[in-house]
Amino acid sequence: MVIMKFGGTSVQDAAAIGRVAEIVRSRQAQHPVVVVSAFAKVTDQLVMMGQQATSGDAETSLQLLEGLRVRHLDTAQKLLGEKGLAKVEGKLQATFAQAEAFLKGLAAIRELSPRSSDQMLSFGELLSSEIVAAALAVRGLDTVWVDSRKCLVTDAKHTRALPLADETRAQAQKHLAPLVRAGRIPVMGGFIAATEEGVTTTLGRGGSDFSAAIVGAALDAEAIEIWTDVEGMMTTDPRLCPDARTIRHISFNEAAELAYFGAKVLHPATLLPAIQQDIPVFVLNSGNAKSKGTRITAQAPRGRDTFRAITAKTGVSLVNVVASRGVMVHGFLRSVFEALDRYAASVDLVAISEVSMSFTMDSKRLPAALLADLERIADVTCEGQQAIICLVGEDIHGKPGIAASVFETVASAQVNIRMISQGASEINISFVIRESDVPRVVQHLHARFFTHAGAAEPGPKKKAVELVANGRGGGNRVKRVSSAGKATAGKVN
Ligand code: ASP
Ligand code: MG
Repeated sequence: MVIMKFGGTSVQDAAAIGRVAEIVRSRQAQHPVVVVSAFAKVTDQLVMMGQQATSGDAETSLQLLEGLRVRHLDTAQKLLGEKGLAKVEGKLQATFAQAEAFLKGLAAIRELSPRSSDQMLSFGELLSSEIVAAALAVRGLDTVWVDSRKCLVTDAKHTRALPLADETRAQAQKHLAPLVRAGRIPVMGGFIAATEEGVTTTLGRGGSDFSAAIVGAALDAEAIEIWTDVEGMMTTDPRLCPDARTIRHISFNEAAELAYFGAKVLHPATLLPAIQQDIPVFVLNSGNAKSKGTRITAQAPRGRDTFRAITAKTGVSLVNVVASRGVMVHGFLRSVFEALDRYAASVDLVAISEVSMSFTMDSKRLPAALLADLERIADVTCEGQQAIICLVGEDIHGKPGIAASVFETVASAQVNIRMISQGASEINISFVIRESDVPRVVQHLHARFFTHAGAAEPGPKKKAVELVANGRGGGNRVKRVSSAGKATAGKVN
């Protein structure tokens, strides 16, 4: 069995859902269970509508709801035709009627509790899953729409509910497993669940990946596929460096580290239920069904490259705190940490000595009052427009000379490093530079550390494709390296 999760952009319109149908068809032999997000942007719109209604502007929120109705019915009609639409229209309209009544209720009571917010946001996945189930059925797939709230049991922490593993396993085995055994294809909404009492909950924004992992774990699936709109996780941001390519295989810890330092494809923490059970997770591109994507597993084999990836996190401030003369050194660090704690400040990198501490924070989340507090106990400087570059890879553990070659490479790009960090776990090397230096440094580092074709999945028989930047501004050349190691060049469009 394979869990196939399709994100918002993979189901954003009729054409995208048509592609989903073909991708699911290609996996039929593997017994798919399909999990879908709301159509792209719908959850954001539902959030907005809830806020509008609560602030008393029911009219605007109902107008937005009309927009959603048109979009969903339009998409359904394109996919199903008039006849097919007639079969599901009743159910879709019933959901819209509920949403409408709900918005009016919010406008009357002027209060949006976490519990009602969950109810409000659930409409997006309820609608998308109905439409996708019907669209796949019209295309000859034996789908059954399944209510996620029957299969996924959570605690009552509304807006960020956590699954109850035993209860979920029991319900999933009851409601999903028999369908799969009978050769049918369950289609369900991600992100939504319910408490044991049946009250609707959600798993937090972006929670459909979490749903896929939870369902996969509960059904002991062989694999989980996260279909999105990019070619898996990349060696670096392709907008910064045209040579970036897909990482074939990455460990869970590495993926988590990447997410923390700015990679935006998915929150690996949400894959934990699957990883703990050793179920591999694949991140794939629904716009290019042939892509091999990225495979995430608890452990990943050593790649040919030193690192798995390079990330850049911009919009960072570098704060330098030096104990003022005359202030007792004893207790200095404690006072700094206490100040950070008072503002619940989440710092990224820290470097400490007896009388000074430097740390970085997201500039947008750095309160001016924190700096004022620190100034009372220390000399403080704060510089914005900095960036953290982070090289991630478990293979660097215990290998001498790697930090040296990283910093040599940065030096060869004529860039000054402001701060350095490497933890004892040796899973990453991070440092701070000026924001404006980011593209140059990333390109230099990528060229230095990702020179091999076909990154992490060693296998002599596999063909690997390498993108080579073709001088300045030119198109990219593809070097195809055959199993015999001969290189042939072609052009990428
Ligand atoms: N639709 C939800 C969101 O936008 C869940 C998801 O797409 O994963 O947050
Ligand atoms: Mg997502």
